[in-house]
Amino acid sequence: MKLLICRPLPEAAVAAVPDGIEVEVRAETAPMSEDEMRRSLSDFDMVIPTLGDLYSAELIASVPEPRCKLLANFGVGFNHIDVGAAKGAGITVTNTPGAVTDATADIAMTLMLMAARRAGEGERMVRAGAWPGWHPTQMLGMHLTGKAVGIVGMGRIGQAIAARCHHGFGMSVHYFSRTPKHLPFETTQHGVLTDCAAAVDVLVAAVPGGAATRHIIGAPVFAAMQPSAFFVNIARGDVVDEAALIGALQAGEIAGAGLDVYEHEPSVPDALVAMENVVLLPHLGTAALEVRVDMGKMAVANVAAFARGEPVPNPV
Ligand code: NAP
Repeated sequence: MKLLICRPLPEAAVAAVPDGIEVEVRAETAPMSEDEMRRSLSDFDMVIPTLGDLYSAELIASVPEPRCKLLANFGVGFNHIDVGAAKGAGITVTNTPGAVTDATADIAMTLMLMAARRAGEGERMVRAGAWPGWHPTQMLGMHLTGKAVGIVGMGRIGQAIAARCHHGFGMSVHYFSRTPKHLPFETTQHGVLTDCAAAVDVLVAAVPGGAATRHIIGAPVFAAMQPSAFFVNIARGDVVDEAALIGALQAGEIAGAGLDVYEHEPSVPDALVAMENVVLLPHLGTAALEVRVDMGKMAVANVAAFARGEPVPNPV
């Protein structure tokens, strides 16, 4: 069987591919072109794609009777793959849940702290040689300890963020989710997203991207937030109406934002870059070597099971 790995992965992940599977590792780090994606479906039995490889319904339909029967996505988020169209074409889709949870929750905490405590702004000031020295009213931010966090999408990552906020920072935890969750500490579920937004000091997006959640966080949510509150997004860019976020920041409807993902990634609007109260990270959620190795091994485990004709461990 032939496997295409669509980006260079950590060596340990590639080494985990079982003997007997012929592997091609694409050398480029950028997403595949449409021609490359068509080739992936026509010339390989299995593919490990990732973020940015847009397997739309049209792309999948453009390769009738694809040789490829498995898209073993490298990553938990799979909103770049039209799963219905893939299944219709006889292609199984898998992902890498769990491997990413703690690392992504850690980046959410990084963004919360950086935004609330003005860390990006302060670092820029020091590097620019513009620090006049300590004084009692300099760069006063928001104290995170004891505040209220609101989590939109209380799944694996949402719950890991909640645990960090509760145990590490004594924060009260609110959330908006379709189904109630049972955490080992007190939480408050809101059935209406704007109610959750209004109740908290930091609102964090941790919901999957895709058609069902596109722009779930927009102008009404920002209008409901307190002017002293911060917004953090570690989920997917398309869950936020980025123009509405910029408008809310410019109007002072919210105090600031911490973003790991963007609506038109890797393009970041100049308006966001210009704002001192916005922390901008380059999609670092899972960017730690052990995590990327674990993600790769999980994708390869799906490939290996599929090649043996066994049920895949992580179907979506
Ligand atoms: P998960 O366990 O599936 O959790 C997602 C949660 O969102 C579910 O618990 C679900 O709860 C809730 N949800 C889904 N649709 C919803 C809707 N329409 N309205 C309200 N809640 C909804 O997934 P996860 O492992 O936590 O990952 C979450 C997302 O994080 C991924 O899909 C990925 O896009 C993103 N991510 C980003 C990075 C990064 O590098 N920044 C890294 C990893 C993951 P209910 O079903 O109960 O509603």
